[in-house]
Amino acid sequence: MSPPERPIVETRRHQMFPTLAAAEIERLRRFGELRAYRTGDYLARTGEVAPGLFVILAGEVSITQRDERVARPPIVVHGPGSLLGELAQVAGRPALVDGVARSDVEALVIPTSRLRNLFVEEAELGERIMRALILRRVGLLETGSGGPLIIGRAEHPDVLRLEGFLARNGHPHQRIDPDADAGARALLERLAVDPRELPIALCPDGSLLRNPSEAQLARCIGLRTALDARRVYDAAIVGAGPAGLATAVYAASEGLSVLVLDCRAFGGQAGASSRIENYLGFPTGISGMALMARAYNQAQKFGAEMAIPSEVVRLQCHPGNGCGRFQLVLAEDERVSARAVVVASGVRYRRLDVPNLAAFEGSSVHYWASPLEAQLCGGQEVALVGAGNSAGQAAVYLASQAKKVWLVVRGRSLAASMSRYLVERIAALPNVEVLLQTEVSALEGRDGVLEAVRWRRAGEETRRPVRYLFLFIGAEPNTAWLSKDEVALDEKGFVRTGPGAGDGRSALETSRSGVFAIGDVRGGSVKRVAAAVGEGAQVVAALHAFLERAGEAPATSR
Ligand SMILES: Cc1cc2nc3c(=O)[nH]c(=O)nc-3n(C[C@H](O)[C@H](O)[C@H](O)COP(=O)(O)OP(=O)(O)OC[C@H]3O[C@@H](n4cnc5c(N)ncnc54)[C@H](O)[C@@H]3O)c2cc1C
Repeated sequence: MSPPERPIVETRRHQMFPTLAAAEIERLRRFGELRAYRTGDYLARTGEVAPGLFVILAGEVSITQRDERVARPPIVVHGPGSLLGELAQVAGRPALVDGVARSDVEALVIPTSRLRNLFVEEAELGERIMRALILRRVGLLETGSGGPLIIGRAEHPDVLRLEGFLARNGHPHQRIDPDADAGARALLERLAVDPRELPIALCPDGSLLRNPSEAQLARCIGLRTALDARRVYDAAIVGAGPAGLATAVYAASEGLSVLVLDCRAFGGQAGASSRIENYLGFPTGISGMALMARAYNQAQKFGAEMAIPSEVVRLQCHPGNGCGRFQLVLAEDERVSARAVVVASGVRYRRLDVPNLAAFEGSSVHYWASPLEAQLCGGQEVALVGAGNSAGQAAVYLASQAKKVWLVVRGRSLAASMSRYLVERIAALPNVEVLLQTEVSALEGRDGVLEAVRWRRAGEETRRPVRYLFLFIGAEPNTAWLSKDEVALDEKGFVRTGPGAGDGRSALETSRSGVFAIGDVRGGSVKRVAAAVGEGAQVVAALHAFLERAGEAPATSR
């Protein structure tokens, strides 16, 4: 994340660090318990799960970012009436900062399990607290405080992979490049890391990971914890895109116990959208990541549990229990059980039919255009293939950074597949050139670095020194994990729902009673954020009806 002109800690300090009035503290007492700390005690320790959210009643606590390389001044010093905590406490995840008592301290500790009651029962106060916690996370994201330190070259595909994963999951991190930073080189020497093993990740708890997978990194930083195989959720939701998150918000707020699983990050395709301009209620548009981060926090506020990253590889009926209970089998052989399942696994991007495409994926060929990719394109020529709205948005966004954007389109016009406002915006951009009836024919480069792209138009081939290629050429349903024996799919692999899936099926129900499908993965769905969100809300009524029919009381109190 590039640093803003004025950090949020300056512009919104009063909202980030509110001081509660005595009467407000009184109202919070019933949610927590009193604890005393001596000078020097840690109330929160980076990399460890804190006991909850603290309301400081007496004394002072300093909040600092832990940094192996330099001693940092406190981010803030909390006094009486202050709240000590951050979004990590809402989700029961490890703290991102140290909180150390500067004097003897008395505090009200509200455990994570009681925070949901606070948010529901004390709506106005809960809203102020939630806003403060969200803004504190934004502050940590701005400075990269509290997350892992990635050491490696900015353009290395694995650095991009790890940074992309952390950014998409709203987790702060810092990166240092050993080619440019003597401190990074010294650190590598001290840790006896061979430069060929880069990138490495240093986690806040001190562990060192050599070129980790996203799952390894997530476990190390506490983003993903082990799942309880004995617990039975009312609903397991596969996919944390807009459809899955909407289900989580409505289901959890209505008292169902909910687990959301996603193999990559929250937000789905919408999270990768640089700007969504047609979502109701945002007349000036909103970045997909900002919209989805709100939904993610909202779902957690109501008590929905998140398991990200978790790839679901199979759906099974629970052995020996008819078909009323379901088990989801995850990669790495974890299992979770639920009374009902919501399939919200969306779609994945199509790949271009060029022989050496794989050699450039992750480094020079991208399937979305987030600020991370846009930053790399600064002053360069880039090519973008596609003619839908997602391609149009990406072209407009990249044009703000790149020297030139070649928009490669197979069809005869953009208007057939792109909204008019985007066609007009593209036409007004001097550095975007639309190439109609054109197809990419070859990629040239070495060691994962693209040097040129060739395209063919009316039998004539053109070669341009293009460094980055973006592909927005449609998508296929993410249903490989669903066997046709469990759930009926249509000829293109989308999930059948409603009467087309079987007699008596309700609108979003699949051929398997108790398994529902919503959003882009559902056959015949409208591929829009609003449609996905609407189906996420709608399916909750169907979940209640199913659980009631099956005689399964919702597990509200667990
Ligand atoms: C770049 C871009 C821009 C867009 N802009 C707009 C716009 O401006 N307006 C608009 O209305 N629509 C837009 N769309 C379309 C919109 O984003 C989608 O219609 C919407 O995201 C669909 O939501 P979904 O929840 O059904 O699926 P998705 O968003 O596809 O989410 C599915 C999720 O499921 C996860 N998943 C898949 N398989 C598994 C598995 N086996 N295990 C666990 N998790 C799994 C994926 O990781 C993903 O996070 C855009 C799409 C793109 C790509």
